[in-house]
Amino acid sequence: MSAMDAFRQEVRQWLEQNCPPSLRTPMRDDEMVWGGSQVSFSSEDQRLWFECMRERGWFAPSWPKAVGGGGLSAAEEAVLEKEMMRIGARPPQINLGIWMLGPVVLEYGTPEQQLRLLGPMCRGEIRWCQGFSEPNAGSDLASIRTSAVDMGDHFLVNGAKIWTSYGDKSDWMYALVRTAPDAPKHEGISLLVLDMRSDGVTVAPIDLISGKSTFCEVFFDNVNVPKENLIGERNAGWAQAKKLLQHERSAMSKFGQFCLPTHFDLMAHIRDYLPLDGGASTNADIALHQRAIAAQMEEDAYSLTVQRMGEEARAGQNVSGTMAIMKLVHTEQEKNKFELLLDAMGFRALGMDMDGFPERERALTKAWLNSFTQTIAGGSSEVQLNVIAKRILGLPELKPAAPKPKQTPTAADINAGGQQ
Ligand SMILES: Cc1cc2nc3c(=O)[nH]c(=O)nc-3n(C[C@H](O)[C@H](O)[C@H](O)COP(=O)(O)OP(=O)(O)OC[C@H]3O[C@@H](n4cnc5c(N)ncnc54)[C@H](O)[C@@H]3O)c2cc1C
Repeated sequence: MSAMDAFRQEVRQWLEQNCPPSLRTPMRDDEMVWGGSQVSFSSEDQRLWFECMRERGWFAPSWPKAVGGGGLSAAEEAVLEKEMMRIGARPPQINLGIWMLGPVVLEYGTPEQQLRLLGPMCRGEIRWCQGFSEPNAGSDLASIRTSAVDMGDHFLVNGAKIWTSYGDKSDWMYALVRTAPDAPKHEGISLLVLDMRSDGVTVAPIDLISGKSTFCEVFFDNVNVPKENLIGERNAGWAQAKKLLQHERSAMSKFGQFCLPTHFDLMAHIRDYLPLDGGASTNADIALHQRAIAAQMEEDAYSLTVQRMGEEARAGQNVSGTMAIMKLVHTEQEKNKFELLLDAMGFRALGMDMDGFPERERALTKAWLNSFTQTIAGGSSEVQLNVIAKRILGLPELKPAAPKPKQTPTAADINAGGQQ
C-alpha cells in the first residue's frame, strides 16, 4: 500500500470515529460555526467536532505545525478534503482569517506576526472580517480612501468601510488603507489588521431584502493601530490585496460545496414540483426538465474541472490565475440553478416569510435571493470577466472611443426637424 493510500485509510477511519453523523448533513446558514471570542454551537455534536478538528490542527491542515496548523502536504490536504466531502462532513468552523488572511500572512508576515496571528486562527479564537470595500471603491478597489497616517509608533486611521460581512460579530478586521495619499492609486495602499474593539471604531448593521442583516458599515474616527499590525511592506499592499482576493475566490468556489445552496439536489426538486406525466405534461414543463438536465451536466463538468485543477496544482502547475474562472462559473451556475428551481416551484416560491409555507420552501426562496449576492461578493461577475480577459487570456484593453464633439445645429437642421 502506498504512503498516500495509508494516509487515506487513516483519515477515513479517524473521520468515521470523530465526525458525528448529525454533521454529515448539508450545512444550514443558521448552523454555521464561526470561530472567535463569541463562538457558539447549536449542538453538542458541533462543539465536539470543532474541538477534535482543532486538536489535530485541521482547521488549517497544510499550515506548519509551528504556527498551529496540521503540517500536511498539499496532496494530503486534498485527501482530507476529499474524504470529508465523501461523507458530507461539514467544515468544523468558518473563518475568513484562515481562508483569506492567513495564507497572505504566511507569505508576507514577519515570524512574530505569524505566531501572533496564525496561532489564534488555528485555535479558532478570532473571528475576522474583511475591510476592503468603501462607498466609492468596490469593483474599483484601488480607489479606497480610508487613510492611515504614520504617527511614529502607530497609524492613525480615519474613513469608512461598507458591505463588511458580519462586522458586528467579528473580533478583528484586515483592512486596506491608504498610506501615501499622493502616490499613484495602486502604490499608496497598505494592509493593516486591527482590533474591532479599538477606540474610534463604530459598526452599523445594514438590513437586507432577504431578511438577514449580515452587512455592516464600519467607521474609523482617529483609530490608533500599532505599527506591528502592518502586514508586509508599507505602500506595497496592492500585491497582497490581489493575493488575498485569489484566496477569497478559491474559498468561495469551495464554500458552496458544503452549504445548502449547492447541496440541494436540483433534479429531485424539479421532479417533485413538476412530475412528468406522459401525455399530460405541458411543453413548458418538458422544457424546464431539459434546462435542469443541462444545468446538472454543467455542474458535473464544473466538479470534474475542479478535480483536474487540484491535480494540476499538486503536480506543481500554477493554477492561481484560474480562480477567477472558477468563481465566475460556480456563482453563475448557482444562480441559474435557483432560477430554474423557482420557475418549477411557481407560487410555492412566494412564501419567503409567510405562514402556510413549509420552512424548506421558505429557505429555498431565501437561498435564491442569496445566490445573487454570491455573483457580487469577492468581485462581481463582470469584474471576473475583466480579470480573465486581461490577466489570463492577455487580451488588450479596449479604451472607450472619445465622445464626438457636440455640434450646434444649423438653421438647415432645424428646418429639417432637428435630425442630426
Ligand atoms: C454577500 C456579499 C458579501 C460581501 N462581503 C464583503 C466584505 O466582507 N468585505 C468587503 O470589503 N466587501 C464585501 N462585499 C462587497 C463586494 O466586494 C463589492 O460589493 C463588490 O466588489 C462590488 O463593488 P460595488 O458594490 O461597489 O459595486 P460597483 O463597483 O459600484 O459596481 C456596480 C456594477 O458595475 C459593474 N462594474 C464595475 N466596474 C466595472 C468594470 N470595470 N467593468 C465592467 N463592469 C463593471 C459591477 O460588476 C456591478 O455590476 C460583499 C458583497 C456581497 C454581495
